[in-house]
Amino acid sequence: MKLIFLGPPGAGKGTQAQRIEEAYDIRQLSTGDMLRAAVAAETEIGKQAKDIMARGDLVPDEVVVGIISDRIEQADCKNGFILDGFPRNVAQAEALDAMLVNKNIALDAVIELAVDPDVLIGRILKRAEESADGPRADDTEEALQHRLRVYEEQTAPVAEFYASKGILKTLDGMQEMDEVTQQINAVLKEI
Ligand code: ADP
Repeated sequence: MKLIFLGPPGAGKGTQAQRIEEAYDIRQLSTGDMLRAAVAAETEIGKQAKDIMARGDLVPDEVVVGIISDRIEQADCKNGFILDGFPRNVAQAEALDAMLVNKNIALDAVIELAVDPDVLIGRILKRAEESADGPRADDTEEALQHRLRVYEEQTAPVAEFYASKGILKTLDGMQEMDEVTQQINAVLKEI
């Protein structure tokens, strides 16, 4: 099963992706997690991404497209994958399309978690407080506002891109976490 999870920061994509990863034995591929690991390891990509991420801007498309292209070919993705945090703008969605055609892979569904923007800042600040690793560099109020703006301007159009292909499923991300999981399972049963 090959899936994309879409939704603003704080929508619950990561939590849901982890649950689906276990239930279906497919890999969650979070570009945010991979980039944070690169920053921590001080690789070339990490050095390039560090300040961009701290401000809440997007790292260059070719960086994340390259990461995903390599990653989905690895053996642990043979049952499928969930792209979490990618694609984040229409150019990335187009690059992904071309990449998948090239690799002869078809997407099964794009699942969007719709959440009222007013609750997002509160959710993220709470998550930051509760995180065992402490807050992320981009969890400041200023970077957060910027991340939400970037989402509205650049990522929201990605939903329309997949809607026009007929594979977008929009779910209500304001429900209880277990409810959302159930709805995702219902969608996955149908494909
Ligand atoms: P969020 O909680 O904001 O959704 P992520 O962990 O998905 O956070 O991403 C954190 C940061 O990593 C982003 O603000 C951006 O700087 C960078 N990033 C992650 N994925 C991408 C991507 N597909 N394209 C560009 N930048 C990305």
